[in-house]
Amino acid sequence: MSSCCKKLDNEKDVVATQEARCIIESKVPKKILCSTCGTVSRQVQYKTVYNLIKPELRSFLQEVQYYFCKDAFCKTVYFSNEDVYRFTVNDVTVKVFAKDFSENVPVCYCFGWTRYRIKWEIEETRQSTAAQEIAHEIKAKRCQCELNNPKGECCLGDVNIFVNKLLSET
Ligand SMILES: [Zn+2]
Repeated sequence: MSSCCKKLDNEKDVVATQEARCIIESKVPKKILCSTCGTVSRQVQYKTVYNLIKPELRSFLQEVQYYFCKDAFCKTVYFSNEDVYRFTVNDVTVKVFAKDFSENVPVCYCFGWTRYRIKWEIEETRQSTAAQEIAHEIKAKRCQCELNNPKGECCLGDVNIFVNKLLSET
């Protein structure tokens, strides 16, 4: 994928990156199958991959569209349908919620809500303030999901699913 910055017809079609690189989103599929496990995987922004892979691996990063594999048992985290290096769970600096079931893994990467913290609050109080507090922070524009969360998206969906599962078990 070549640089498209000079021919900027429609800003919405372009994702600017930290390094002023960009990709025409509309020219690549929104979702593709993981090249390792076949799970349907969504696009992830370049800046998410850049920020979350180990710094010494940034030289492997190419100007292509990357996708995030959410499969729990697949070691691949970021991959492309082009012939480029595939980043695995060992190549990222955080534990990936979708792929690591430990208690100390963040459900919300921006505000430090780990599985343990959510569980502890529910055990102590039989309720969870996580979603409410996170929503408050989002409203105050203090979240940076595209930089902190490996899937590059807001965590609230995962938080709600996790909280509801625990509440239904208590
Ligand atoms: Zn996969």
